[in-house]
Amino acid sequence: MPSVSEYQSAIRALLSPLAAREPEWWTDPRPPAAPAPRVLAADVSNPLDLPPFDNSQMDGYAVRAAEVHPGSALAVAPHIAAGAGLARLKPGTAAPIMTGAAVPLGADAIIPIEASDPNSFLPDEPGHSVRFAGPVEPGAFVRRRSSDLAAGQMLLIAGTVLGPAHWGVLASAGVTRVPLLRRVRVLLISTGDELRAPEAPLDPATIHDANGASLTAALEEAGAEVVRAEVVRDDAVAARALLAEVLASTPVDLILSTGGVSAGAYEVVRDVFESAGVAFTSVSMQPGGPQGQGVARLDGADLPVVAFPGNPVSALVSFEMFLRPVLRGLHGLPAQRPVIRGPLVAAVESPVAKHQVRRGRLRPDGSIELVGGPGSHLLHSYAASDLLVHLPVGVHELPAGATVDAWAI
Ligand code: AMP
Ligand code: MG
Repeated sequence: MPSVSEYQSAIRALLSPLAAREPEWWTDPRPPAAPAPRVLAADVSNPLDLPPFDNSQMDGYAVRAAEVHPGSALAVAPHIAAGAGLARLKPGTAAPIMTGAAVPLGADAIIPIEASDPNSFLPDEPGHSVRFAGPVEPGAFVRRRSSDLAAGQMLLIAGTVLGPAHWGVLASAGVTRVPLLRRVRVLLISTGDELRAPEAPLDPATIHDANGASLTAALEEAGAEVVRAEVVRDDAVAARALLAEVLASTPVDLILSTGGVSAGAYEVVRDVFESAGVAFTSVSMQPGGPQGQGVARLDGADLPVVAFPGNPVSALVSFEMFLRPVLRGLHGLPAQRPVIRGPLVAAVESPVAKHQVRRGRLRPDGSIELVGGPGSHLLHSYAASDLLVHLPVGVHELPAGATVDAWAI
């Protein structure tokens, strides 16, 4: 009998050739929709006894416990396979029964085949007998009807984040319609004349739209659904036309934009949404200072708008700080990132009047090293980090060894 670790090694070895499998090419510019976490919106009651009938926990013999005496023989009855209908056990007999088969009427215990003599099944024909070494308790190795859950009881409560076992138990109970919290539908807009789709070639002075991809992934992880992701030029007329087209055809709960919110000359998000009722401000945070939020009145419909700055790190940090906790909460998911405290590996400076959020990495000894500088274009450094390190307002210089709080991302 192999040990657990030996068996783990065996399975690892069995599957190791899969490590060299060909990559799958994802050809959609949007990241794959990960199986978004889904949460029950209402209690679900159980319509079915689980299990639905008394059944055998073992391959063995179904018996009447009172008829089993050490060394005495019982006549072998016909076999009972899993999925066979309900049989009846004649007095003075023992029925070979397979795991999951219905315990026959009259039987009240199962004796495992290993504890029987002979200890393997005989051909399914009349004339055989079987002996058992010891007595058996009524109920032995019988999985009672409703021993997992009785019909009419609560199957799953509202707020359950559905994992594999939940989907499985719903299927067991035959529940094929479940009320889920509806995912918040987001129209995601990247703005900038310089932006090209990730699959498009770059002309001089253009870059690929990173925020459409990063925020799509971030929104989906937070439980939301990106119903449209668009790139808009720095042109208020074009932006309004796109909004009109999308909103006429697609139900949207939230508009999230990036770029076009600061003090430049072509701030399309400001131009379009400020007059529609969205407030723009500067938050004492770095990165992610310029921000906009509010309800916009668009073609007569009122829609919440959140406007993040365009730098890719600013956009993602803004998402972590402002939107992710709220969206996760709305979707019934744990909202807080785990907080990790640890000593800084090296000294750091931070603008004293701003809450600076830096990218970092947790070292095996529990210390925290910063990854990359504070620049808000350093998305690759972000991708190489597993922490967001907080340097709150009031912090100007911290020496190596100073304790900081970080969010595990
Ligand atoms: P903005 O907030 O529009 O002033 O943009 C600030 C910086 O972020 C500029 O360098 C933009 O080119 C860049 N940027 C804006 N949007 C995106 C985006 N979707 N993907 C990558 N970079 C962007
Ligand atoms: Mg811009």
